[in-house]
Order: sequence, then C-alpha cells, then structure tokens
Amino acid sequence: MKEVILIKLGELVLKGLNRNKFEDLLLKNIRSSMKKYGTAKVKAAQSTVYVEFEEEDVDMDAVLNSCARIFGIVTVVKAAKTNIDFENIKEETKSYLSMELMTAKTFKVNAKRADKSYPLNSPQIMALTGEYLLNEFPNLKVDVHNPELTVTVEIREGFAYIHADPIRGAGGLPCGISGHALLMLSGGIDSPVAGYSMAKRGLRVSSIHFESPPYTSERARDKVMSLAGVLREYCGHMDVFVVPFTEIQEKIRDCCNEDYFTIIMRRYMLRIACALADKYNAKAVITGESLGQVASQTLGAIACTDAVATMPVFRPLIGTDKQDIINVSRHIGAFDISVLPYEDCCTVFTPKHPKTNPSIAEVEREEAKLPADLIDGILDRIERVSI
Ligand code: ATP
Ligand code: MG
Repeated sequence: MKEVILIKLGELVLKGLNRNKFEDLLLKNIRSSMKKYGTAKVKAAQSTVYVEFEEEDVDMDAVLNSCARIFGIVTVVKAAKTNIDFENIKEETKSYLSMELMTAKTFKVNAKRADKSYPLNSPQIMALTGEYLLNEFPNLKVDVHNPELTVTVEIREGFAYIHADPIRGAGGLPCGISGHALLMLSGGIDSPVAGYSMAKRGLRVSSIHFESPPYTSERARDKVMSLAGVLREYCGHMDVFVVPFTEIQEKIRDCCNEDYFTIIMRRYMLRIACALADKYNAKAVITGESLGQVASQTLGAIACTDAVATMPVFRPLIGTDKQDIINVSRHIGAFDISVLPYEDCCTVFTPKHPKTNPSIAEVEREEAKLPADLIDGILDRIERVSI
C-alpha cells in the first residue's frame, strides 16, 4: 500500500476558461508547492490530479494541508493506492480507514470504476465492500442519504484508490492564470487578506513594502516577511520589494503642511508602486483599503490617492467590515502575526488633524513644495527579497 493525494478540480470553472491552460498551470503550481516535501509525480486524468512521492517517509498530512491551500482545487483527500485484487481492496479498506470506521455510526460505500474490464461493476463493489465492513465493524449502519462517513473505492489504470471524505480545497483560480499584480503589503491585518483575495482570483502576486528605518525597526520588517511567508503558502512563491522610504517621508514632513502628510505620503507610495509594477510587467496594484476605516480611507482621500495611479488599483476589501476581514485573516493564518505590535511607516509622523476630505487641487498645491526629483532613481534603491 502506498499513500497518495487525490485532488479534484472545479468542473464549473473548467467550463468557463481554457481547460488546458487551467490544468497546466495548476499542475505547475502543485509541483512547485510539493518540492519541499520530496520528489513528487503529479499527473492529471479525468478531472483528478494524483500526487505521489518517490520517497517513503513523506509527511502526507503536511502535504494534504499544503494542497488544501493551492488555488484552483475544489477538494483534496489522502488515499491508499493498492492492487486491484478485490480481497485485497476489502482488507486495505478495513485497515487504512480503521479509525474512521470505528468512530462513525453511519456510512456508505461509493465506487468508481474507470477500468471497465474489472470483473465487478460499481454497484457490486459498493454492495460487497459495504457488507464486508458491516461485518467487521458492528458499530456501523448503512445510511445512503446522509452518512457520517463515505468510503470511496476508485479503480483506475490498474490500481485501486481507497479514501474517506475529502476536505475542501482553497477554491478559486490557479495563481497566474489572471496575470501578475503588485500587493502593497504593510504589517497590518488588511493587506495580507487583500493579497490572498486577489491571488484566489488567479493573480500571481508580488509584494512591495515601504520601510522607514530608524523610525521602523528590523522587527517590523521581519513581521512583514513572515506575512509574506503566509501568503507564499497560497501563492506558491513570493517576492517582496522593500522600498527605503525614510528620506521621502522626511522631505514631506519638512516641506508640506502637516495636515496633508498622510495623503501625500500615500500618493508617493502609489506612484512608486505603479512604477515598480510596470518594471516587472505587473498590470495592477492591490491595497488593503476599506472605505471609511481610517482618515486616509475616506472617499475623498481615496480619490486623491487614486488620481496618481497609472494602472488599475484593486481594493478587494473596500466594502468589507473589519470583523469579516479579521475572520479571513485568522482563516489564512496571518492574524497572530498581523497583531504583533511593531510600527509601520504609515504611523511615522502622523498628523494631529489629518485632512479627511482633501481635494486633489489642495493636495497638488502642497506637493508642489516638494523637490521635483523626490523619487528619481528610487527603483534602483529597492531591495528584492525572495521568500
Ligand atoms: P493594513 O491593515 O493593511 O496595514 P490599515 O488599515 O493599517 O491597512 P493604512 O495604514 O491606511 O490602513 O494602509 C492602507 C493600505 O496601504 C494597506 O492596506 C496597504 O495596502 C498599504 N500600505 C500601508 N502601509 C504600507 C507599507 N508600509 N508598505 C506597503 N503598503 C502599505
Ligand atoms: Mg497599516
């Protein structure tokens, strides 16, 4: 017996998009996520992807959890791969699923037979396996409509695959199928959730982070890198571009009216993000903004920030309440990192009375006080960290 992973793809999604492109990209993403566990064979047949390792000692629970985070996957399950002799199938079912069979009260057996030359048809496999398990586990009753446990026996390409109920996959579209975008990643709660949401819609996501040492610490940077690590689990890989932002912030503080500090800083962040995105062929910028959450996220402030964008800015959380954002943050495993107390560059030099509804004309007037070459050459000073 060998343990493998079976992955089911989204049928509905496959109809709408180019199926081959979807499948090829998903297989590539799965292969890349599996590298850290061993040498994986990953192949697709009939809307199922099989993941099998050459090594014997792979932690298949970790592999299962990792697969459950890859976008484009509807369900995923661990299965025993065994020979197709029917006596053997029954015994393997009994031993491989013994824990589940001992604890369930009701069950049913499901069978799929891709290999039509097999001497038993699907109803026969179901009936005979069910009868055998009923004898072996006196705690069990059959319930074909609402069973606690569904035992599945699949026979295909010369092997039998035996498994219990699959777990839900991450859903969505394979990362990369929708193109490439740049996430403005802070150390907060919102931006990792925004990145996750857009990666789920098939974007390959890279991150840009602005830091202002010595006002922001090394620990603040580590926190952002940890959050990028959480996102990598979903996105497959993650580059973080770190922008040295201290001098720009100091210049804004020194030259402009304090009340406009935050909005001007945010406009410079977005200008730099758009320029960097362009350099790496990313076609959109993603932020974690949510309408009305803070002074820089009023409609007026967002309009002022947006005015400097040279490409679409995606704000997937714009209409989402904080509690719902927190729920997703917990779900993806980012929350405990996001709430660590290290400062972000946005909280450096915050004005006492920030303009909540600035007009673009006012902001431009303030910005005119800054040197024209304020961000010249900044792209060359950005550090790239591959997570
Ligand atoms: P978050 O929880 O994502 O930090 P926030 O509620 O603290 O968001 P702001 O500080 O106004 O809100 O930031 C709004 C958005 O601007 C963030 O969601 C993020 O996309 C971007 N942003 C803020 N600070 C940074 C930073 N230091 N580097 C990169 N992007 C940032
Ligand atoms: Mg923040």
